[in-house]
Amino acid sequence: MPKGIKIAIDGPAAAGKSTIAKLTAERLGYTYIDTGAMYRALTYKALKAGIHINDGKSLKQLLVETEILLTPSNNGQAVLVNGCDVTEEIRSSEVTAAVSTVAAHGEVRELMVDKQRALSDRSGVVMDGRDIGTDVLPDAELKVFMTASVEERALRRHAENGMRGIDSSLEQLKREISERDRADSERKVSPLRQAEDAIFLDTTSMSIKEVAEEICRLAKERLGQ
Ligand code: C5P
Repeated sequence: MPKGIKIAIDGPAAAGKSTIAKLTAERLGYTYIDTGAMYRALTYKALKAGIHINDGKSLKQLLVETEILLTPSNNGQAVLVNGCDVTEEIRSSEVTAAVSTVAAHGEVRELMVDKQRALSDRSGVVMDGRDIGTDVLPDAELKVFMTASVEERALRRHAENGMRGIDSSLEQLKREISERDRADSERKVSPLRQAEDAIFLDTTSMSIKEVAEEICRLAKERLGQ
């Protein structure tokens, strides 16, 4: 059995990274790590604890005291914060609106990146986020930068919300997605950008199956299969 490789999937908000990363990990028998869920979990905890999202020092302290666990579940992956299941809560509009501010603090990122690297310390991992190829796993054997037009991303999120019974406005989703992309791309510490050695994939007119197949093909190429 060849040893597993590290796969980094980065890209803007709602590009379908998590769906694809999860599917790819399943197909290859790898561990899937949703780093966005980790920033969301910290944001959720901060909002609950009344910690200001501009207070990087207190947010870092909160992260030191918080255990974030990503565990496989029937619906993909469950997120546990100090043993409490917050899988649904971290997708709320309050958390989504605050997460980019929390994730912009250098001291928060430093510790989060340490946690993410520790999680990837095993063979065969698919990790998705914003800075995986550039900062968290610069030695990943396969790096993919995945995007789609903002219209298509808003449509996908809208459909996903519909399936989960959540009402949403397409125009508002488009605004929120664009604003999060702006904040994530303009922050000083490890902003969202494509790693030099990443493969660019525009998924606007590709199906989930096609994207997952392409990434599995690339992974097998890297594995020499
Ligand atoms: O992937 P998701 O959209 O759930 O990520 C939520 C937010 O977490 C992003 O908008 C970004 O601010 C932050 N994030 C990050 N670095 C990562 C993953 C997510 O800054 N590696």
